[in-house]
Amino acid sequence: MSLLRHDLYIGPIGAYIDPPFPAKKALITHGHADHARAGHDSVLATHETIGIIKRRYGVDAAKNYQGVSYGETVNMGEVAATFYPAGHILGSAQILLESKGQRIVVSGDYKRRDDGTTVPFEPVKCDIFVTEATFGLPVFQHPDAHAEISKLLTSVKNFPDRSHLIATYSLGKAQRVIKLLRLAGYDDPIYLHGSMINMCAFYQENGVDLGDLRKATGLLKGALKGQVVIAPPSATKEVWARRMYDPVIAMASGWMTIKQRAKASGVELPLVISDHADWNELITTIPETGAGEVWVTHGREDALVHWCQTQGLKAAPLHLQGREEDQMEDAA
Ligand SMILES: [Zn+2]
Ligand SMILES: [Zn+2]
Repeated sequence: MSLLRHDLYIGPIGAYIDPPFPAKKALITHGHADHARAGHDSVLATHETIGIIKRRYGVDAAKNYQGVSYGETVNMGEVAATFYPAGHILGSAQILLESKGQRIVVSGDYKRRDDGTTVPFEPVKCDIFVTEATFGLPVFQHPDAHAEISKLLTSVKNFPDRSHLIATYSLGKAQRVIKLLRLAGYDDPIYLHGSMINMCAFYQENGVDLGDLRKATGLLKGALKGQVVIAPPSATKEVWARRMYDPVIAMASGWMTIKQRAKASGVELPLVISDHADWNELITTIPETGAGEVWVTHGREDALVHWCQTQGLKAAPLHLQGREEDQMEDAA
């Protein structure tokens, strides 16, 4: 029996990694909705990921939970699983499976940039490396996130009468943008759309200092003038956004590299900030794992599969169900 199938089923222990359907046993890389779902019998994940699952879906999201720390190995019969940091969001992990001398790493989503809200990615030696390819085309070269935040702060300074409404995803990206603002010396209160509050509080409980955060609701007229407000992309078009003062609409996403995409979504200030590896990070990481075989998922598989083959590596695309870009809350 092979250790891992292409649908990420671990045969010898009857478990799936990140199953998009209710499973008896699920090993979960991180808390984004396209990886972590409710309804599993048992969940094995990092303590932080379990915390995220409970916060988002309720404590009954799974029947049993087993939490692990980074570097901790769980032995399940002939298979051992160890969780290593993936640098993607709080609690995100790569899962190393070891059995009969074979090593397979399922990296989930990852990035190599310094983050400030997560433990940095660690390359793990393996025979087979399962990588994402959200930004798996050479055209995707993410700039330095600190420089992108400087653009935002310049705009805040230049337009003191306008609100700055930053559209981001509520888990991971929002907290990273806030942290980057704090690291750049921005100490003013940052205002949150209601849907952001839960996950920001969870990050803060887990020791990620995000500074003074306030609800962007129930405020006196004029309170948001000159302020920074964080909201999900859908909220920028809601009635909710009308309380802003002539808002500068910013969006923090890896997709902001594509100018038409920014324009089409009415974004005045695109910020190219991504929680996924860009092309260079992908092609640096693969050789670092020493893997002779690479499985590619989550986006633009073909270009990366081709690149692997030019390097003399065996490579295959995985067309995992439920991972299409538009369904992905962490598509950015
Ligand atoms: Zn993700
Ligand atoms: Zn994902």
